[in-house]
Order: sequence, then structure tokens, then C-alpha cells
Amino acid sequence: MAFLELRGVEKYFGSLRAIKGVDLSIEKGEFVVFVGPSGCGKSTLLRMIAGLTEIDGGSLQLDGRDITRLPSSKRDLAMVFQSYALYPHMSVFDNMSFALRLAHVDKAVIKEKVTRAAEILNLVPYLNRTPRELSGGQRQRVAIGRAIVRAPKVFLFDEPLSNLDAALRGQTRVEIHNLHRSLGATTIYVTHDQVEAMTLADRIVVLRDGQIEQVGTPLELYDRPANQFVAQFIGSPQMNVVEARQLPVIADVPAGGFVGLRPEDVSLQPAGQGAEGGLPGTVDLVESLGAETLIHVRMDSGAQLIARQSLRTALRHGDKVGVFVAAANAHRFDAQGRAARAG
Ligand code: ATP
Repeated sequence: MAFLELRGVEKYFGSLRAIKGVDLSIEKGEFVVFVGPSGCGKSTLLRMIAGLTEIDGGSLQLDGRDITRLPSSKRDLAMVFQSYALYPHMSVFDNMSFALRLAHVDKAVIKEKVTRAAEILNLVPYLNRTPRELSGGQRQRVAIGRAIVRAPKVFLFDEPLSNLDAALRGQTRVEIHNLHRSLGATTIYVTHDQVEAMTLADRIVVLRDGQIEQVGTPLELYDRPANQFVAQFIGSPQMNVVEARQLPVIADVPAGGFVGLRPEDVSLQPAGQGAEGGLPGTVDLVESLGAETLIHVRMDSGAQLIARQSLRTALRHGDKVGVFVAAANAHRFDAQGRAARAG
């Protein structure tokens, strides 16, 4: 049995079946990320694991023990929220040591554990400050520190970085990555952010409408999505998906099906400069992001595609182009959006 095992887990809010029989096995030390569109049930599932939301059906086992009905405080899990939920009048040290003091842990042991966590999180200079005297990123690190000192069996994070600005998010993401590498703690992390999911996860769980669509490593999901939903949810800009009849150069697509192409698998040549041999199209929009350029093109067949290239471009809105696709990398979906194999 896995370290953390969910079997047929269900949640109802009145008549709404918010979680629909989720089965999931998480191994010890794994970093698992839950992603999915707003309202798909990510936070609800995490809160059910934490014991903050009751489980209405199915079971939850941690390290061989059934914890389905166990109160949150007895589950040996620590949760870090988006709103840091620190005690405003307490120092950083007192915030971080709160749970240990409640549990009457020896003072010297508390000092040692808090100091060690503060060192890992670069919080040593701030131990005597109150949360008000810290930046958002520092507060978030205190919230993480509070979880670390408890040495729980599982860390649960609910969008911990979403209140931070882009630069700080990037920096804190790296810190969480390093933290996981040094502690090796089993972690479940909920996020909206693609990059966080792709960079932090050993495995990503894609949820939709209270159900798991696919579980896999980041690159498994990117390279071999099980269906059109996962294909378009993972990757930014999202995978181009067009009706197969609009892109007849891709063979073996099931009747009424669709073709998927990652933006990096679409390239464009300007008219008169190698466009011949490509599929005819017209540039709609050019987005220059510096390191890469996204070019939106409308093909004469009606298909609309985004091409991603690392080179800058002289192409402009309205320019005629030849569109070339990396057919070997094309994804095929049947009429219901399920991945289909070529041949
Ligand atoms: P977001 O990314 O927007 O935070 P989420 O994937 O975390 O979304 P949940 O918050 O888990 O989604 O909500 C899942 C579904 O359950 C939604 O339809 C939501 O409206 C509903 N829901 C969540 N909590 C409650 C509640 N306490 N009472 C009633 N319905 C709820």
C-alpha cells in the first residue's frame, strides 16, 4: 500500500457532488501537485486530506492507518495556506513554535527545532519581529517554518504563493523546491500556476469537475496527455487543437476527431522566403515576449494556430505565410477528445 492512499473519496455540498470517487496513491517523499480549473475541487480534496472538510464516502489511509474519520489535529499533517494565518501579536519565533509549545515540548528542543527551520528558510534575523514587520514573502516563509517544526508526515500547501508578486513567487518557488530536496517530506501542493506545477511536481494530478483526468510526471502529461482537456490545460500558450479536416496533412485521425499541435511544433515562413510547400495562412497577431515570439496565424483552411519561436520576427498582422507543422509530434484526439494513437 502507498504512504497516502485515497480510495473512492466522495464529497457532497448539499446536492452538489463536489468530489466524485477519487482514487489516488502517493508514495513517501513524493511531491504531488493538484491542478485544474477554478471550482474543480482541488482545495476541497486537500482539505479532506487535512481533516478540515469531512469525507462523505470512501477512505483515506496514511502510513498504513485509516484516518478517514480522525480529527485534523490527530492526522500528523501540516497545512500551509494562501492567507498565512499567522498570529499578528506574536513574534516569528513564537509563531513558529506555537504548536510545539501547545504540545508541551521541552524548551531546549523547541529552540533547536525553530532555529534549524529558521536557518533553512533564511529567517534567523527576523525571529524577534512580528508578522507586521515582515514582507509578504517572509511571512509566507514563517508559515512554512511553522509547518516544518512539527515534522509532519505530510505537508499540504494550498496556493501558498498566490499572494506574492511574480519575482517573489519565482524565488519562493525555488526555496520550496530546495526545501523539499533537503527534507524529502511527502508534499501535496495545490496551485493554479502552470510553472509551479511543472517545476515542483514529481507527479501532477489534473482534476476536472471533481474527478481525476490524468496523473503523471510533468513531462508525461506534456508529451502524452490522455485527452484534449489535459493537453490544453498543461502548457502555456496552450496546445493548438483544430478539427482534423482543417489540417489534412496529419493522417490517421479518428473520424470527427481533432489534431493537437504544441506551439513549438508550428513554424512559419514569410511569402517569397520559403513559404512554398507550407500550408497557406495569414498572420493575425505577433506577440514579442523577448526570449520568444508568439505568432497567431489564420490558415486558409479556417484553422487558427499559435506558433512559438525563439527568433524575433519581421512578420506583421496581415502578412501571408507558409505554415509548417512537425507532423511527428502531432497529437490525435477522437470526437470525444480522447487521445488516439496514429496508425
Ligand atoms: P479554486 O481554484 O477556484 O480555488 P478549487 O478547485 O479549489 O477552485 P473547490 O474550492 O474545491 O475548488 O470547490 C469545488 C466545488 O465545491 C465548487 O463548485 C465549489 O463551489 C464547491 N464548494 C466548495 N466549498 C463549498 C462549501 N463549503 N459549500 C458549498 N459548496 C462548496
